[in-house]
Amino acid sequence: MSKEYSNIVIGVLALQGAVELHRPHIEALGCGFRTVKTPRDFDSVDAFILPGGESTTILKLIANFGLWNTLVDQFAKKPVWGICAGSILMAEKVTNPEQKSFALLPIDVQRNGYGTQKESHHADINGYKVSLIRAPIITKVGEGVETLESHEGDPVWVQKGKYMASTFHPEVNQDFPSPMHRAFIDLVMS
Ligand code: GLN
Repeated sequence: MSKEYSNIVIGVLALQGAVELHRPHIEALGCGFRTVKTPRDFDSVDAFILPGGESTTILKLIANFGLWNTLVDQFAKKPVWGICAGSILMAEKVTNPEQKSFALLPIDVQRNGYGTQKESHHADINGYKVSLIRAPIITKVGEGVETLESHEGDPVWVQKGKYMASTFHPEVNQDFPSPMHRAFIDLVMS
């Protein structure tokens, strides 16, 4: 394990959603895992994962705890990976219904685009099994956004500069680390 990797600490925003599942993936890469909730926590990490969960609930908690402006400042200077609900928080435009977002990536997302819980399913991305759980559909990809992988004809993994989003959950797979966690750490290192 390279020495530099062990210096990197990834903060997973721990207000709601699938937080702890990221730990083994990040630790398998030799990086530090930290759950973050307060401005002091945010200062102590090199990059953020916005986990899957319920984007409306996460937004509500961000507002309740007065974290919006601090997060805007943090996201401006550090890499961010949004997963499912996290990708919704990163999108420029959100529909079904419309809601506030950090607009870090010029993408449009339609919440629950694949349908309800019943339509949640697994997918094979690069030979790695991932889950789409009440996932959004990325309906538009703007300038400079690279589509890293598609599923059923729609982009599901995109990146622009230091921002990455996936509409699927790789962290539920117990084969550590996932290729997506590896890609994110590479992005953080670049
Ligand atoms: N449907 C959720 C939302 O709109 C996202 C689901 C997830 O993160 N797995 O926020």
